[in-house]
Amino acid sequence: MGKRNAQRAGAPSFGPPAVDPRRRRLLGCSCCAAGGLLLSSPVVANAATPAAVEDWRSRLLQGERSLWLARGDDQVRTTYWTPDAGYDGEAYKEICWLLRDVQANKSFAMSPRLLDVLCGLQNWLAHGGHRQPIHVNSGYRSFATNYRTEGAALNSRHLSGQAADITVPGVPLARLAGMASLFGEGGVGMYLNKGFVHVDTGNERIWIK
Ligand SMILES: [Zn+2]
Repeated sequence: MGKRNAQRAGAPSFGPPAVDPRRRRLLGCSCCAAGGLLLSSPVVANAATPAAVEDWRSRLLQGERSLWLARGDDQVRTTYWTPDAGYDGEAYKEICWLLRDVQANKSFAMSPRLLDVLCGLQNWLAHGGHRQPIHVNSGYRSFATNYRTEGAALNSRHLSGQAADITVPGVPLARLAGMASLFGEGGVGMYLNKGFVHVDTGNERIWIK
């Protein structure tokens, strides 16, 4: 039995595998000096293979996929995907509504990949004892809202439903950003001045403001 199969057969492990060298470079860059705070598990000396990273990601999304999100006084806690039935349209709509452009009061078909990134992060946090909603500062933005948003890029991923600005009470921004960077494959921005982490499903990049 190969190593990966042996891992599958045993008790689930949610610690990250050794970091892909490309990711390690990102985490160690000057814009993310908090890299040392990011991992709750010791960083393994040898870099993981892409297959091991993929295997770890898929274990964080194993079985039903649920999200518990909060925004102001609103909350949604629902299962949006199951292995047997696939996507639950009503649950998906509820999540999209919570992630709507609140200024325009307009919902958008959010990227399923973004939901998976948030779900994986939430499962990873839950494994570490943080069982609470992810707080959403911003999800979809219409062009007009994005234009009015201070510091927003004109081609922001928020415009296409591929980004969310989030916090998790009790979890330092640097840790949340590091987890998002390790779990996701897109953009991660840590906004120290505004107190949230931006995650998106675009090209891989990381920044701090
Ligand atoms: Zn953002």
